Amino acid sequence: MRSLDRLNMCWIDGRSITLPKSFSVFNPATGKEIGNVPLDEGELTTQAIESAWAAFSTWSKRSAGERATYLHSWADRLIEHKRELAELLSMEQGKPMLEAKEEIEGAVEFIRWYAEEGKRIQGEVLTPLRANQRISVIRQPVGVAALITPWNYPAAMVTRKVAPALAAGCTVILKPAKETPLIAIALFEQLMATGIPAGVANLVTGEAAKIAQVLLNDHRVRKISFTGSTEVGKRLMSQAAAQVKRISLELGGNAPCIVFSDADIDLAAERIVLNKFENCGQMCNGINVVYVHETIASKLEERIIQLVKRMKVGKGSDPDVKIGPLINQRERQKVHELVLDAKQQGATLLLGGDMLEKDEFHQGAFYAPTIMNQVHQNMRCVQEEIFGPVLPILTFQTEEEVIKQVNQTSYGLAAYFFTKDHNRVHRVSEALEFGMIGVNGTSLSVPQAPFGGIKESGQGREGGTYGLEEYLELKYISTILD
Ligand code: NAD
Repeated sequence: MRSLDRLNMCWIDGRSITLPKSFSVFNPATGKEIGNVPLDEGELTTQAIESAWAAFSTWSKRSAGERATYLHSWADRLIEHKRELAELLSMEQGKPMLEAKEEIEGAVEFIRWYAEEGKRIQGEVLTPLRANQRISVIRQPVGVAALITPWNYPAAMVTRKVAPALAAGCTVILKPAKETPLIAIALFEQLMATGIPAGVANLVTGEAAKIAQVLLNDHRVRKISFTGSTEVGKRLMSQAAAQVKRISLELGGNAPCIVFSDADIDLAAERIVLNKFENCGQMCNGINVVYVHETIASKLEERIIQLVKRMKVGKGSDPDVKIGPLINQRERQKVHELVLDAKQQGATLLLGGDMLEKDEFHQGAFYAPTIMNQVHQNMRCVQEEIFGPVLPILTFQTEEEVIKQVNQTSYGLAAYFFTKDHNRVHRVSEALEFGMIGVNGTSLSVPQAPFGGIKESGQGREGGTYGLEEYLELKYISTILD
């Protein structure tokens, strides 16, 4: 991999900028510093707003075809540099190389999809009630959009926001998470290399709360799109109210997975394990808790344990590794506290249950893949988002009882269930109070579908034509004829 020193910069008005103050970025598998990026406390953000505001008047008037050309060129460049980007992603975030490559590919799919969907933004002509009136509705870009992304999918989350915003004709300011700014800067390096006009896409790194304050206080920023914790999302929502800014929120999840007695147990076990341990369990739509019918519980547990025992934990760069470290020591400690709480309240550990600290795990944020049963609904690991490689298993007796139980959560992002009964597929899908439902499988984030949640998991959607609407305003034009 080329030196990471070149990534010590922000991007404002098409130029790379460094600052006297900076902060360090660490490899979560080794605890070692791998980079250093500018620590903006607001001044650079003001410049980014000025640059995005100035560029908006011309970018918004470019044809959708021209905008698509830049986006496709960006996608081409990311594919060309896929290996290098995946290595950086794996080193900075911890995920295994295979997952890192898949994330870069997924990030590219979003760019390509929105490059084309931007060409299909439509208006309508409505039927008037009066003979001399003409009514039309057009869609126009919202304006300058501020995009705030998390560390768990730090490449895909960037393109899932930047691509629809640019395709819609908005200009953007990206603020990546402090744990993973390098991959965002590397993605921007490739975007700038397409020759995209200066100011259309800007990137700032630094003090999140101070940067957000500047973005929220400036009338020129018309849209906030945030992915991250429910706690920060709520704060941003209340601050955005002061200027009635449009805001999309993709927040925390607490996904249940129900395995009914008629399910294919082997298939359920395999897909539960794939989902739960992807990205070391740090996935907003990841399964938090499994609810299994009591008659098949021991068989499912046995199968899950067999599969998890085969998964190697270690550094993402090792090709045999399936589970990397958590993002940092703080997150690892939070996960461990949930396990300790469950144990104290009577849960039984079937596998794992502790931090991994010796030998090759030294200094890394590794946690043993953990499976627990004898878990109860009121334990913290059921009520809270675990965000780690820990799977609590509960049992249930009836469909009615389990639906009531899982709907009690204040979250509403994703829910999954396994069954072979077609009537149940419809009945349960309609009864679950979540934004996304996975039936007999857990794959959800695809470019054409509306990803997002209800209740305290957020508002608005990313993906599909729904995701483009987030960056468009409706304008109604009434014309009275002579
Ligand atoms: P976080 O809320 O701490 O950080 C998210 C982003 O907000 C980062 O860029 C961070 O720097 C910034 N931020 C932090 N404090 C801020 C403040 N006061 N004002 C403005 N910005 C601030 O969340 P995280 O720890 O990075 O991510 C994990 C959370 O994100 C989990 O809860 C997860 O479920 C959620 N998530 C949700 C989705 C989704 O699509 N719903 C996707 C990925 C992650």
